[in-house]
Amino acid sequence: MVKPVIVIHVGAGALTRSAMSAEKEQAYREALKAIVASSQQILSQSGSALDAVTEAVRLLEECPLFNAGHGSVFTHDETHELDASIMDGRTRDAGAISCVSHIRNPVLAARAVMEQSQHVMFTAAFARKQGLGMVEPDFFSTDARREQLHHAQAGEGRVVLDHDGRRDVAQGDPIDPERKYGTVGAVALDSAGNLAAATSTGGMTNKQAGRVGDSPIVGAGCYANKNTVAVSCTGTGEVFIRCVAAYDVSALMDYAGLTLEQAGERVVMEKLLPLDGSGGLIAVDKAGNIALPFNSEGMYRGYGYVGQAPWVGIYR
Ligand code: ASP
Repeated sequence: MVKPVIVIHVGAGALTRSAMSAEKEQAYREALKAIVASSQQILSQSGSALDAVTEAVRLLEECPLFNAGHGSVFTHDETHELDASIMDGRTRDAGAISCVSHIRNPVLAARAVMEQSQHVMFTAAFARKQGLGMVEPDFFSTDARREQLHHAQAGEGRVVLDHDGRRDVAQGDPIDPERKYGTVGAVALDSAGNLAAATSTGGMTNKQAGRVGDSPIVGAGCYANKNTVAVSCTGTGEVFIRCVAAYDVSALMDYAGLTLEQAGERVVMEKLLPLDGSGGLIAVDKAGNIALPFNSEGMYRGYGYVGQAPWVGIYR
């Protein structure tokens, strides 16, 4: 008998206690708890893992605190380009959408791609035909994200150390210098033993227009297979793509016989970190074990087994 569970993240990065006000921390914790609880409710009524992760990510997209949907970060050109993906571990069907700026809930578009097309990944054109909720791009904007962009841009041209420790000048740095990510994701196991994963993001503050990270790439930022594990990632997307991070957790369990905990640690600490890949992942295996490893200072995360109180954490 498996115990249904939902696990969520809302990003990883340089999250320190001193930089976070008590009110802000409280707001994050309450939002995470409420969203875990609503997906627990779905799972407790025999809802599917797919529905549980869809609803969790939709709610996370609606919350302005997180870097997905409303509250997404800005590109260098002060625009929004959103990415999302979803995968059903039961069938290994998957859907993804990238660089969209008018779809209110990118995760619903990713799910529509999965269920209503014969393809896996689309850019914007698909959504208009599906009757999905459309908005003007400034729907996604918040003052806090605009401030972050201006802060990041003010740091452009500053002196930084390159990989070999030499002094260099950062030009048009596409990456938020403070590395406070806020991508959202969810993984779930349902009472029928099925697994699902979903990930959604505005990307990285000050990214170049047209840049696509790992979040909409199946196998990199999102993966689910009922025989192994469901995974959602957050962090420096380029490195997660190069490591095929989400799929690697599954492959290590499948081919090398690692436990979920071993596979998650191996990917986050031994594969991503040496390539300067900062961040983490959330995962649940077919037996209901969960893992939430990260190599950054913090990762906003929460989970709830059906019938138990939601747990949330930010720091180590
Ligand atoms: N992985 C995301 C990206 O590269 C960013 C994040 O997780 O915050 O677009």
